[in-house]
Amino acid sequence: MKSPARPLRARIHLDAVLHNYRYAKRLAPSARALAVVKANGYGHGAISLARALASEADGFAVACIDEAMELRESGIRNPILLLEGVFAPDEIALADRAGLAMVVHSRQQLEWVLAARPSRPLECWIKLDSGMHRVGLAPGEFAGAHAALADCPHVGNLVAMSHFARADEPEHPYTERQIAVFGQALGGLRIPRSLANSAAILAWPQAHGEWTRPGLMLYGISPLPDGHPLATPLQPAMTLESAILSIRDLEAGEPVGYGGRFVCDRPTRVGVAAVGYADGYPRHARDGTPVAVKGRRTRIIGRVSMDMITLDLTGMADARIGDPVELWGTTIPANEVAQASDTIAYQLFTGIGRRVPLIHEGLQTQWK
Ligand SMILES: *Cc1c(COP(=O)(O)O)cnc(C)c1O
Repeated sequence: MKSPARPLRARIHLDAVLHNYRYAKRLAPSARALAVVKANGYGHGAISLARALASEADGFAVACIDEAMELRESGIRNPILLLEGVFAPDEIALADRAGLAMVVHSRQQLEWVLAARPSRPLECWIKLDSGMHRVGLAPGEFAGAHAALADCPHVGNLVAMSHFARADEPEHPYTERQIAVFGQALGGLRIPRSLANSAAILAWPQAHGEWTRPGLMLYGISPLPDGHPLATPLQPAMTLESAILSIRDLEAGEPVGYGGRFVCDRPTRVGVAAVGYADGYPRHARDGTPVAVKGRRTRIIGRVSMDMITLDLTGMADARIGDPVELWGTTIPANEVAQASDTIAYQLFTGIGRRVPLIHEGLQTQWK
């Protein structure tokens, strides 16, 4: 249920997403790029994003078949990859009908694919565990799996893929090690390769391969928490904004909000904004977490409530009820809010609450 008068909304700038996709391709000019739109496009609205990117995207990547079907049912014809493959053998028939490519990350999935009877050749991305140690075939299993799929008449295109555990740490040698393990497992096979998430697109050009998989960077946020010189051109795609609904002046010594976590150390003007943890604003946001009122930076004071937060308006004599409040977006980087809340921008975005309207602006009008 979305209440139209409540001022909270997430504005999604589709032109920024298109810009970021083009930029990801420019950083890896010899690779094609799967736009990763799993988890409802990291909370940005997968259908609208896919429509905005449809005429340019080499393909989309999602986590599971329901996410893929949602795109197909809304008219998206681009290639789509299931990043975790199928969860049961009968999903292969669905994937066949919808023309979905699938990751094969286990011997069980390999058996399902070999035993399937699809109507057309299945595209499979063979996933190697090069050191993340979550899913993927072991290096010693790779050649055999590749041979079985390559020999299988109902399997079509093959891609070799892997995923990095620490690509967001440009100084750390672990990514080099994963690249080496991947190269050794593939041996001399001539097969397209896909390794790079956003962090690797920015920081590990030697891992660009033939297909990249940009996720977070599409949404305009650097996956490297301390930034990266190449991340500067990214444009934040989401502005989470609300408005001031109450203002009061408190004496020094007065506490604010649940538990009295913040106590005024001077006469303090407190503003209340309509957003809380039920909307996805992180409850762990510390006092001092940045927020912008009418484009001016200030800070959270007091604990985040379910539906409201309290802000420091001291020194903003002109602040009024109804003034716009940006929680994150172009003025307040989502990474700053994430760091002040001991989390990551990925979790902020995917945690946006159901009652927050997503307002898509820019390119999608042509679809209406
Ligand atoms: C989610 C995901 C990505 C995208 O990662 P970002 O860090 O958001 O760029 C790429 N590859 C795989 C396998 C993923 O699951």
